[in-house]
Parts: sequence; C-alpha cells; structure tokens
Amino acid sequence: MTLSREQVVRLDKAHVWHPYTAMDVYVREVDPFVIDRAQGPYLFDMDGRRYIDANASWWLASLGHNHPRLVAALQRQAEQLCHCSLAGTTHPQAAQLAAELVAIAPPGLTRVFFSDDGSTAVEVAIKMAVQYFGQRKGGQGKRRFVALEGAFHGETVGASSLGGVEVFRRPFASVLFDCVRVPSPADDACFGSAFEAIKELLRTDHDEIAAVVVEPIVQGAAGMQIYDSGYLRELRGLCDQHDVLLIADEVFTGYGRTGRMWACEHAGITPDIVCVGKGFSGGMLPMAATLATDRLFEGFFGGRSRALLYGHSYCGNPLGAAVAREVLAVMRDEDVVGQVQGKAKRIASAFAAMGAMPHVSRPRALGMVAALDLSLPISSAASRDFVETASDLSSHGYLGDAGWKVYDAARRRGAYLRPLGETIYICPPLTIPDDCLDELLAIVRASIEEVVQSIGS
Ligand SMILES: *Cc1c(COP(=O)(O)O)cnc(C)c1O
Repeated sequence: MTLSREQVVRLDKAHVWHPYTAMDVYVREVDPFVIDRAQGPYLFDMDGRRYIDANASWWLASLGHNHPRLVAALQRQAEQLCHCSLAGTTHPQAAQLAAELVAIAPPGLTRVFFSDDGSTAVEVAIKMAVQYFGQRKGGQGKRRFVALEGAFHGETVGASSLGGVEVFRRPFASVLFDCVRVPSPADDACFGSAFEAIKELLRTDHDEIAAVVVEPIVQGAAGMQIYDSGYLRELRGLCDQHDVLLIADEVFTGYGRTGRMWACEHAGITPDIVCVGKGFSGGMLPMAATLATDRLFEGFFGGRSRALLYGHSYCGNPLGAAVAREVLAVMRDEDVVGQVQGKAKRIASAFAAMGAMPHVSRPRALGMVAALDLSLPISSAASRDFVETASDLSSHGYLGDAGWKVYDAARRRGAYLRPLGETIYICPPLTIPDDCLDELLAIVRASIEEVVQSIGS
C-alpha cells in the first residue's frame, strides 16, 4: 500500500517522537518535510519537490545520497553476510576496513575499535582512557576529563558529560560525570586566555586528569565555531609534557569536511585517540570507530583481567564495514578531498560577501563548512525546537526565531537549511556539483535578505 503524504503526516503526528523537538508545537504548527527519495545533493518530498540538502542530513551524507557505488556495496554484502559478532570471530570486511583506515589515519594510530555511531565512538574513548590509567602503575588518580566550552560530543550519558553546550547539559546535570571546562579558543573574547587556561590547568592538576577531549578546529554544534590550529599544536605539547591523553573527536570534522581528510592535519598532530562517525559510512548506516595508538593498546596487555571491557552488539557490523570500505574507495577514486578545494573557495567568498549584509556578523568558513550569525532585534514565544539555543557558546541561548524564518524562506526556494539558533550554516555533501552549490549559496543569500528586510526594518 502506498500512503499519501497526508496519511504519513497523520501517523507521524500520532506516534513519532522527534529528536530535539517541542512536540506540542510540532503537532500543532509544523508542516514537516516528507521525504521519500534522495539522490546526490537532493532530497525529494512526496509531492515530488526537490530540495538541496544544505546540511547533508545532519552532517552525514558526505558523498551525497544514494551514491550508486555505496548502494551496490551494501547490496553485495547483504547477500553474503549481514551480521556476525566480533567476539572471538572476525570477518573480511572488518579486517580490511581496519587496515585501510589505519593506512590513511594520522600516523601512529594503529588500532581500530568499532562501534555504532558518533556518541558510542566517544564512549569507547572515555572508557579506554579511564581503564588505561586505572590499570597503569601510578595512574589510578588520573580519571578526570577536560573539555571545551561549547563542546558537543554526542548524546549518551558519557558523551553528554563532556558536552559544554549548557542547554543540552542542564536537564541531565544531576547524573553526568564531572568534567573540567576550559574556555574555547573559538571564542574571540577568550582566544589568548584559552591558551593560558589549559596550560595552567594541566600544570596544576595533571595528576588527576586522564584526557583532554576536543572537536579539532571546528566546534560544530556550538554554531560552527572555527579556531586556530595553533591551539591544537600547543595542546598536543602540553598533553605530552603532563602525561595526559589527547582525544580528538573527528566525528564531524573527519573525512574531508574541513578540506583535509582530518581536521588534525591542519595542526600536523596525532592525537592518542581519534573518534570517527558520520562521514565514515557516507552517512548510510550507523557505523563508527575509535582509533588508538600502540602505547594505549599495550596498556591492556596482561591477560583477561586487563582486557578493555567494552563492546556493542553491532560492533564491526559487516554491512556498515562494507559500505565504509567503499566510502574510502570512492574518496580515493574520485579525489573527493582534492575536489573540495575549489568548492571551499566558492563557499568562503560567498559567505564573506554575505558578511557585509545588515544584521549579519562573523561570516566564517573552512573547507565544506560555513556559517554566519544573524542579529535581529526580535523575540518569539514559541521556539520550534531546542537546538536553536545551542548557538551561544557560553551558556544561555537565544530565543529569537530569525534562524527559523530563514529556514522557511530557504524551503520555499528549494533548500533544506536548518539553523543552529541564529547561526545560519551550510555543510553540504562534499561532492555537491558546482552549479548546485552556486544555487545553494544564492538561496542562502536571498533567504537572509528576505528575512532581514521583513523584520530588520
Ligand atoms: C554528531 C556528533 C557526535 C555524535 O554522533 P552521533 O552519531 O549523533 O551519535 C559526536 N561528536 C561530534 C563532534 C558530533 O558532531
């Protein structure tokens, strides 16, 4: 039976609980996109309308939707082996994927632990760090974590504990573990003091600190806040000096998003642990990995009592692994990261030009990420969801709805352009064709102009 659009919306509104969504407002007021097909940079709704996917469907579809080679790899693997555990068993896809990942990872990361999504990749990193020091001679006191203001590392309780976006943290604060918060180098007001703060903290408290966790170069959920690679280089040196692990959460930034394969490449550093997700499977299947160095890995030698006590049911899933291998093959064959360079220039210059518009500030861009902030003196009672409040790096969010007005304007023009509060950003598929990218940039500009003119005057 084929459902009509109205039937889908009725069932949805009767039963589906949407993420980060004020459901009473949603059921009453929101007319959702109803997507039943996607191809390349486009989403198609049930009325046959086409939308450019400006955020690669929550930052995932790095090679576009339904890439024919990824679909074929999934079909081939489904006929062979859909799942087996990695407990005393292995399979060709997991073994080859691990080797292929190590070959392109920052040098020195030689071990791969598979899990399901970005949040679990971070959970793995947390448990690795805790157990590593817990069973290392003299390391027992090192069990605290340090993370940045505005950090976002995922949704599970452990990953949320590292999170520095106050609105996401607050409802769960009573059950989150203690995390030391340091100023973000992406905050212009704190740039100099951010270096001093982390330096001083590691100097005085390194006996208690297991790891510093960062989103390298770009803090995504905080509103695409970009910081100088010098901070990462400095941090690498400080962590080495004080025997603290450096964990880089490349779930968003990895796989070419910032114009290099890894954001850490901008700084030329190798972290002790790297988390990957999102683009890792081209956004097709839940599949993630946590990479570690030999030093860390060998900390778990010494028999059963010292083994890493961690593992999810779908760890190393063959379907996900087959697709993830094909992602790497496509990236190599199509020189995806090389192709990004020209597109990145177009994006950067378009956003820089938008920075001259009234009520627009802080245009910023790196690789296939760009953002700007709106500042319109309006307020609104009904916030459509909570993500919008995340755009404030420090603690309290905005309640304005200019970002959502731009979203509506872009939708009418044929783009899916979710805001982060009053931050308008794009992170399209890396493979978006140039003409489609130019169309998207024109839509962003026209949508902002429309909203600024309607309410800014
Ligand atoms: C999205 C994200 C996560 C969480 O990934 P999920 O797949 O949503 O669990 C973790 N870290 C960063 C930096 C992210 O952007």
